[in-house]
Amino acid sequence: MNAEQQVSTAWGRQRIKRDQIDKYLANGRDFINEELIHSQLAAAPGVPSPQQVRDILAKSLAIQDLTPDEVAVLINVNDPGLLEEMRAAALAIKLKVYDNRIVTFAPFYLGNYCVNRCAYCGFNNDNCTAQRKVLSQEEIKREVAVLAGDIGHKRLIVVYGEHPRNDVDYIVESMQTIYSVRIPTRHGQGSIRRVNVNAPPFSIEDLKKINDAGIGTYQVFQETYHKETYARMHPQGTIKSDYQWRLYCMHRAMEAGIDDVGIGVLFGLYDWRFELMSLIYHTQELEKRMGVGAHTISFPRLVPALNSMIGPDWKYLVNDADFRKIMLIIRLAAPYTGMIITAREKSEIRNEALLMGVTQMDASSRIAIGGYSDVVTAQAQDKQQFILGDTRSLDELIRDFAHRGFITSFCTAGYRCGRTGKCIMDLLRSGAEGKFCKLNAILTFQEWLDDFGSAETRSIGLPLIEREIEQVKARNPKVLELFMEYHSRIKNGERDLFL
Ligand code: SF4
Repeated sequence: MNAEQQVSTAWGRQRIKRDQIDKYLANGRDFINEELIHSQLAAAPGVPSPQQVRDILAKSLAIQDLTPDEVAVLINVNDPGLLEEMRAAALAIKLKVYDNRIVTFAPFYLGNYCVNRCAYCGFNNDNCTAQRKVLSQEEIKREVAVLAGDIGHKRLIVVYGEHPRNDVDYIVESMQTIYSVRIPTRHGQGSIRRVNVNAPPFSIEDLKKINDAGIGTYQVFQETYHKETYARMHPQGTIKSDYQWRLYCMHRAMEAGIDDVGIGVLFGLYDWRFELMSLIYHTQELEKRMGVGAHTISFPRLVPALNSMIGPDWKYLVNDADFRKIMLIIRLAAPYTGMIITAREKSEIRNEALLMGVTQMDASSRIAIGGYSDVVTAQAQDKQQFILGDTRSLDELIRDFAHRGFITSFCTAGYRCGRTGKCIMDLLRSGAEGKFCKLNAILTFQEWLDDFGSAETRSIGLPLIEREIEQVKARNPKVLELFMEYHSRIKNGERDLFL
């Protein structure tokens, strides 16, 4: 270990506050009961009957959570006809809760220093070939100028490594920098309106500082919920090796006042069936203990990384058929929770995911540090955590969505009106948020097309907006007058109007 690695490892060790884990344990145990999960998986019928599956789907379609036992039943569905019924139910739920809206964002990696040594990651502290960098505030501004001014993103997921160079003060300062950037566009100003943060687990005190800086969603993935695998992947002595510090970071976040939290699994480290059950336990634990479940669930699949120990013959890698089933079951089990599929996946799978209930996708993604303002266009293996599967631009993605009848929403009004956490979840459950958000989706879509859309995308997007407005006339007569006024003001160049 070199001197820099020794300092950063020592920094990591003193971060964990044991009392901020113990306070959430029940009788000294965490909420991932491996024996119970394995027994539920073993008890599920090997070939579920059509009636069993349809009864469960009826519950999902009524926008009710599924129990882990019901999830275990769906895991065993392999009959093509029943899988098709699951697919139809997932899409119906998506449309009922979220309508035909889809949200886009960009990942924004601010640094790749890391004190950890995860066995599957190219950024791990032992990898001496990775080019390490943390962006300065000026470099952040340059990146945001491209993201918000050229591409037209309004939302980011900003990714921070676990390292003293990326500590809480850096996170707060960088968030403020991102929010401060304003770039002239064709008709208005480009800016980032929602900074979601993917960062390591923090203490309640640090999370309060991040909350005060205006965080959107706080994302931390458990990677694997299976304790033995977790220990194998995260070497002892690293901060990340503390399973429960990570497991309870969302409890701490909510206690710190962060309303929206995003959980996830890196599918492929261990048996996907176990991981899926654990994800459901996690969101239900948050709802039970903290009053609201996960705002989003992410389900990245392991892909090759430079110097990673996991090769193509690793036994838990998830194939496309199982991956599709994972997406369907998440949609069915947690009907009102946001689902994020990133550009790790190929465009074919992401196009399918659109019809399986996914609610958020990234586009024009660059995951090399400084990759947005860098003139180099190829993916740089030594500067990024993994290789992207879908390199479509935001304009292309929006056009593809519009071809399929989906409207891209850039709305961030909910966060600025306090429609977060339990409030937004209750609205989603009741179906009210879907209708309300649709109006803002149309307004922001018009704004984006006018400011950033190519002629080709506008030629598909604008007629879609006209069709949507016809539906608003029929379905939302009470707000029609105000909506039409806002729409016409946006077409005349005003920006950021929302209902
Ligand atoms: S997965 Fe994250 S924590 Fe682990 S080595 Fe990579 S960057 Fe560090």
